[in-house]
Amino acid sequence: MISKIIAEELIHKVKKSVDAVDKIVIVAHVAPDGDAMGSTLGLWHYLMTIEKEPVVIVPTAFADFLKWMPGSDRVLVYADKKEECDKILAETELIFTLDFNVESRMADLAPAVINASAPKILIDHHLHPGDYAKITISHPEISSTSELIFRLICRLGDFSKINLACAECIYTGMMTDTGGFTYNSNKQEIYTIISELIKIGVDKDEIYRRVFNTYSADRMKLMGYALYKKMKVYPEYQAALITLTAKELKKFNYQNGDTEGLVNMPLSIAGVVFSVFIREDSDKIKVSLRSQGTFPANKFSADVFDGGGHLNAAGGESCTTLEEAVAKFEEALPDYKDFL
Ligand code: 5GP
Ligand code: MN
Repeated sequence: MISKIIAEELIHKVKKSVDAVDKIVIVAHVAPDGDAMGSTLGLWHYLMTIEKEPVVIVPTAFADFLKWMPGSDRVLVYADKKEECDKILAETELIFTLDFNVESRMADLAPAVINASAPKILIDHHLHPGDYAKITISHPEISSTSELIFRLICRLGDFSKINLACAECIYTGMMTDTGGFTYNSNKQEIYTIISELIKIGVDKDEIYRRVFNTYSADRMKLMGYALYKKMKVYPEYQAALITLTAKELKKFNYQNGDTEGLVNMPLSIAGVVFSVFIREDSDKIKVSLRSQGTFPANKFSADVFDGGGHLNAAGGESCTTLEEAVAKFEEALPDYKDFL
């Protein structure tokens, strides 16, 4: 049916590791997105069906528009429940780390995971996986970690154990990491998998609405404000920049996740192939970068903002002021003209 992307030997090792234990923790990256939540919860539902005791721990809160996801109410947020999470991690027998490549992506949760005696299984689709895991399943050519979880479960011979809740989570991650199947989504097998998920009962139109059509009025106004007042286009570099200060965010009653998707919007302008959004958070500057075609958003992010990610979707952070981050962006643009 679908090709065997994950090496047989790794499937075997995962099976052996899972069979040998009861207590399993699944962790995702800081500010978990749809794919982080989709993959962790998808795996969580699966492990429940095979009668394990999985616990999902994420470093920081996830956006409200993911709170409908089945099982999300059981997720522990490390920032809120540090002691409880530390205890669970110290006692667990196996840790899955999903949707990130290096331990720093776990932020404050990293020491407790890395120092835990339990072996780690890394499953991810970012380039350059770290070396902390006993088993590393890294496939940058696959557009979401959620898709990898689907493939893993199938290869473990447990397709029939993917229940509706599990399928909904997997679908959500596949959908969000491809912008609703508008980028990184040309591989035919994605649609074979979606077809299977729909057979299980996934209502893809409903999931799209739950994730993408749940704006508050404040969020919609913030988007309008950002595009009208804060977007700068650099035609010479086929680039666009949006910035939002902490004060502006407060004015629009900013909630976690409210600027999700904003960075993609300037890519709808004819000729723009690179879009950057810089947000002033209380403790740092957050940078999101998106591109079209071969323009390397991840290289730009690594070079300028010490970040990383995928060719067309990357992120980074900066400890500078917002103005300094903008200056760094503008100074770097000419160096990337060759990629246009
Ligand atoms: P977003 O802009 O949605 O926060 O992130 C897009 C992608 O960029 C993520 O899926 C992740 O691969 C990567 N990314 C985001 N923030 C960071 C960061 O601070 N460091 C690194 N290395 N990658 C990031
Ligand atoms: Mn992902």
